[in-house]
Amino acid sequence: QVRASNDLHVAVLAFPFGSHAGPLLSLVRRIAAAAPNVTFSFFSTDKSNATVFSGMKKEDLGNIKPYNVHDGYPNNHVPSGQPLEPVNLFINAMPGNYRQAMEKVVAENGKNFSCLLTDAFLWFGGEMAEQMYAKWVPLWTAGPFSLFSHLVTDVLRQKIGCNDVREDQNIDFLRGFSAVKVADLPIGIVTGDLEAPFSVMIYKMGLMLPRATAVAINSFHEIEPLIVDELKSRFQQLLNVGPFILTTPQPFIPDDYGCLEWLSKHGNASVAYISFGTVITPPAHELTALANSLEECEFPFLWSFRGNAEKQLPEGFLERTRTKGKVVPWAPQTEILKHPSVGVFVTHSGWNSILETIVGGVSMICRPFFGDQKLNTRLLETLWGIGVGIDNGVFTKDAMVKALKLTLSSEKGKIMRQKIVAFKESAMKAAQPDGDSSRNIKTLIELVTT
Ligand code: UDP
Repeated sequence: QVRASNDLHVAVLAFPFGSHAGPLLSLVRRIAAAAPNVTFSFFSTDKSNATVFSGMKKEDLGNIKPYNVHDGYPNNHVPSGQPLEPVNLFINAMPGNYRQAMEKVVAENGKNFSCLLTDAFLWFGGEMAEQMYAKWVPLWTAGPFSLFSHLVTDVLRQKIGCNDVREDQNIDFLRGFSAVKVADLPIGIVTGDLEAPFSVMIYKMGLMLPRATAVAINSFHEIEPLIVDELKSRFQQLLNVGPFILTTPQPFIPDDYGCLEWLSKHGNASVAYISFGTVITPPAHELTALANSLEECEFPFLWSFRGNAEKQLPEGFLERTRTKGKVVPWAPQTEILKHPSVGVFVTHSGWNSILETIVGGVSMICRPFFGDQKLNTRLLETLWGIGVGIDNGVFTKDAMVKALKLTLSSEKGKIMRQKIVAFKESAMKAAQPDGDSSRNIKTLIELVTT
């Protein structure tokens, strides 16, 4: 059945935690701008919507309208303070909470949904779309390797087992994975609580994604052609549409703390930029070790700190390092990574951070914590040679001093920077008007808006 574009209504279902909803909104803004007659209803929790739509004017939104879905908290619930509690409550409320909000919107504007553009985590999108005679287009907001590991979870469980797993063995039975160790795999595949709400959600996702009309991914073909080919053979259509920082409109992040001006007072590739994304603060002993290493090396540093720096960093550290360092609660990261003064990024290896670093042409020191971060670290270090891990995987003063010296003042650091420039060039090429990612965006726009 062909519908007039005025009748087309796209439901965008975001996953409201970490850096998931923001990149999805960026992609939707790009699609919605190309299809001004199509209506886009964006569903996330009130908290997530308040964050991702903050500072946006009505004219920025155009044909996109935010709607809140219930966060899953029972009435009068007293939060336990457990970091995973909000995520588990939300997952347990899915898909009913989305369905309820979606039905209300359709009742209001009288337009049935023609397409469901969802975070890939939302495995139920396929069935929901079928019931609505709509298309299902999921977006995977991380990289191709981790996506592939979720698609082959059953194979991994069968070959490796799930009890008393030997974590140091290499995954040599999967094409493209021989450098990866079992310990690098995201928790919930063969290790951790396989019955936890998050593990179950992501397992179901692996089973359902092959049913999608197309799967979009915030990546570019050249980053891992082998794995991309594996993914292509399993999906109806795979669309590399990233890096989003080059292919989609980005939210404006004000430089409230003068980071860029501060950077411009430093020499070329001399500064260590430190950030662990939107949710992570390393444990106390690691914060101390990292701070002590910075003090000892005397390299200039810029630290985007989640938490209370005054309380959590060693006593007197901020005062003693005032002339060398700058600690801020939030930084315009994408601009910082493009600044010539930044020589290394100390990161948790979140996927968005990695893509932003590639576009900035900066090498990385990686301290991964959870999710895809360990897998990403292995690739950065072993396969691509554009990052280093830290000895034994946690911050100690000596290990960090070694990593800082290696990346900022050694020949090996220079080679890493050269290698990253090659990745940067492929990313830029993919995002040019005739590049692979730009062509895929056109295909995606066509799919979602017809
Ligand atoms: N970010 C930022 N300023 C900061 C810290 C982080 O703009 O001070 C942004 C960063 O540019 C990236 C995102 O937050 O786009 C973090 O995403 P990533 O996937 O790296 O990590 P997550 O937050 O999902 O763990």
